Amino acid sequence: MNKESIYGLTFDQLTSWLLQYGHKKFRASQVWDWLYNKRVSDFAEMMDVNAGCIELLADHFVIQTLEEHTMQESADGTVKFLFKLNDGNLIETVLMRQKFGLSVCVTTQVGCNIGCSFCASGLLAKSRDLSSGEIVEQIMKVQLYLDQAQKDELVSHVVVMGIGEPFDNYANLVDFLQIIKDNKGLAIAGRRITVSTSGLAGKIIEFADANLQVNLAVSLHAPNNELRTRIMKINRAIPIEKLMQAIDYYLEKTNRRITIEYILLKDVNDRKEHALELAELLSSRKQLANVNLIPYNPVDEHSQYQRSERESVRAFYDTLKKQGISVSTRLEHGTDIDAACGQLRSKQIKASAVLHKGIAEQNVVR
Ligand code: SAH
Ligand code: SF4
Repeated sequence: MNKESIYGLTFDQLTSWLLQYGHKKFRASQVWDWLYNKRVSDFAEMMDVNAGCIELLADHFVIQTLEEHTMQESADGTVKFLFKLNDGNLIETVLMRQKFGLSVCVTTQVGCNIGCSFCASGLLAKSRDLSSGEIVEQIMKVQLYLDQAQKDELVSHVVVMGIGEPFDNYANLVDFLQIIKDNKGLAIAGRRITVSTSGLAGKIIEFADANLQVNLAVSLHAPNNELRTRIMKINRAIPIEKLMQAIDYYLEKTNRRITIEYILLKDVNDRKEHALELAELLSSRKQLANVNLIPYNPVDEHSQYQRSERESVRAFYDTLKKQGISVSTRLEHGTDIDAACGQLRSKQIKASAVLHKGIAEQNVVR
């Protein structure tokens, strides 16, 4: 059996695990420091940890399980990694250089079962969830890549916007967030982490209750049920009213702002009437919702969808603004290397699918 990566344990889980084997509590701090600050790739390098403990760790865990399959560097500094998992599946991770720091987009599942009609992930039905260790390791691999250049660069931001529906892999997502936020290790602040969901209302509520202090983005993409069901079939099970109730609960409970993601699809959801309807839908949440307009990345298999014209984007933006809605548009990264999360993997498995853009936080381009 393949051993799991130790990156999958939260600090508390690691501590209880070591205690259970009769090791002292401080060992957990030492091991954590070697993993996340000194970033060793072998337990044997943990110099101040005693031999018995190292042997125990090595008997039960490995540090790294991902194998680098391909890496592409774009002229704008975006780097796309394709990793091979233990079971041979391929996943991808994107590093983006932003004005505000270094942002990594991670994958949470192999494929996705939500099946949105514009997204290539949906073409690849989910074959499994990633473990918390596999998600953390994506960040570690990127950090190790940065370490190699010896420029003292650290991953500062994380977006959970790669392939998969993070809330369909909830427990592992939460462990992942706790691990990367841990102050004794990577210490990535919650305000620099964004999780994007297609809108699993029950999980939005659970997430609000979990009080993780990270940002939430919800893929709305349409202002009414008829249209949303057409482009996102999840809307049949969780219609907009139910989603909005969950969003209101989240806003009330966390007192944080929320991002509403809206991909602009030419002549489908990008007309003035849609902007007005969206403004109306968000009117009671103006203070706390920011609409992020996303340029569509065309997918061969979904040729019914095209990217909106520049003028439509502008008009949509202006209409929302005029209605008092806070709105931004997203910058694209790495277009010269297919850096949309998903494109590379799809190519490799000859599905010729192209996936969504793995893009970082809101970037106002005007
Ligand atoms: N499953 C989650 C997170 C991953 S998708 C979700 O759907 O929110 C991250 C974002 O990329 C979502 O807003 C999604 O709608 C968007 N996306 C998917 N396919 C895209 C494409 N072809 N072009 C642009 N954005 C896309
Ligand atoms: Fe899955 Fe998100 Fe793609 Fe929808 S947009 S199919 S939820 S990855």
